[in-house]
Amino acid sequence: MSAENTKTETASQYSGDNGLPQSGEKICKAVHQYSKGKISGENMDVLMEIGHGCMVTRNYIYQRYGGIKSLVKVYSGYEVDSEVRASGFREKIGLPSVYFSSSVSRALADIKIMWAQVRNRINDDVSRNERFSPEDRHYIRFVLKTDVCYWNILNGKSSPLSDKIQSVYEKVIADLGGERGQRVKNLNRYICRQTRKKLHKQHTDNRLRFTIKKQGYRYGELDGEHGIFLATKANRQRMFIPLTDTNVYDRMLDISLNLQKKSIEIVIPIFVNIQRHKDYVNEIGISLGVWNMITTSTGNVYGSSFGKMQQEISRFILEENYREKSENVSGTQNYQARKEKMDAALKNYVNMEINRMLAQEKPKVVYMVKLPRNPGMLMKGTGDTHLLRMWKKGFVTERLQWKCQKNNIKIVEVIGKGIGRECSACGQVGYADGEKFKCSACGFEENKKVNSARNTLNRGKSGKQLNKKWSSDTLGR
Ligand SMILES: [Zn+2]
Repeated sequence: MSAENTKTETASQYSGDNGLPQSGEKICKAVHQYSKGKISGENMDVLMEIGHGCMVTRNYIYQRYGGIKSLVKVYSGYEVDSEVRASGFREKIGLPSVYFSSSVSRALADIKIMWAQVRNRINDDVSRNERFSPEDRHYIRFVLKTDVCYWNILNGKSSPLSDKIQSVYEKVIADLGGERGQRVKNLNRYICRQTRKKLHKQHTDNRLRFTIKKQGYRYGELDGEHGIFLATKANRQRMFIPLTDTNVYDRMLDISLNLQKKSIEIVIPIFVNIQRHKDYVNEIGISLGVWNMITTSTGNVYGSSFGKMQQEISRFILEENYREKSENVSGTQNYQARKEKMDAALKNYVNMEINRMLAQEKPKVVYMVKLPRNPGMLMKGTGDTHLLRMWKKGFVTERLQWKCQKNNIKIVEVIGKGIGRECSACGQVGYADGEKFKCSACGFEENKKVNSARNTLNRGKSGKQLNKKWSSDTLGR
């Protein structure tokens, strides 16, 4: 499986938490790795025990630092770390520190997310609530975004503010006008009440997913198999788990246990810089196909072996299913390995051809027909040729979206109704003659797919809300 075979989990502007550089936009994708074969019951137990320890650790942190007393502290990881170290909690539960400290940071991150949600919700309520004056709102917003101020009010304390914050705070209070003393009291009470209402104790029952620091594992080989060595509770003893690919990473990993299948999945978050290409200025329309993967409005085809490769896989699956039934044997490892290899080759081909298209067409905007959501769902557990194709289409659009995102190219979906029958030169309804599209109104002739891609571009560029406008336009002509 290639490293490109991944799913985009989140895509967002990234602004420098987690010690990542602040400059440049980044998008996050998750790469997945899988254990190969079944993990022994003994090893599964060891992993379960680690998962349990991590769960207990997270709950301990939620419990101890999830309340109003710790509001300021959770933003200083260092302080929490040294307190937790001094508590002896890790030794008590006997969890290696590579798992322990990542569980602590994970739980702290969750607490910060919760605080952000609480503040956002209060802000939303305040904006909607008409009994607040603009100055009231200003006061509440200021308090909510100033940790020490907020902490003071929640805890009825008066820790000193920095000079700069103090002077802004006084100004915000002064703006409240005449009865500001009483106003402040009321608003503070409101803030406390709302916070208490919206703050909830966090808790997890999930012992099947945990995080390991990079010091806790290494990739390597054992008995000719590639895999990962994971730290265990036993001192200096590492557990070897074979993996289905040979990629190596050097960052925090998320490990997810599957008890039924006796397997693990490793999730690796990867941050990628968005690339901007000054010379990518074109607008193109594309048409996806079962045989030719992508045909562009410029008349080019990318992925012309796409259909053939899929057909080979389908044929292979069918033959193998037939053989299984007639010879009454179950799927061999050899079969799985060959199928995986063919799948990987196809995926790799899709990636390469999309790259080639972007490099050659240099688009700023790509228009494509809106596809049904998640065609991959139909594919689960079947060997059906048609559905296999549907799934590959889902894979193609997912890859296309990811690559466009990464290269700062916009994808715009247009409505596809009637797009194959419309003439891209004059807009009248034409007909298909083999691979050709022909228009009797204006005499235009073009490859069917190219005609569709040109229509996609026209619909996208005209920026109309395509379905309605387009049909009334055609009627008017
Ligand atoms: Zn025409």
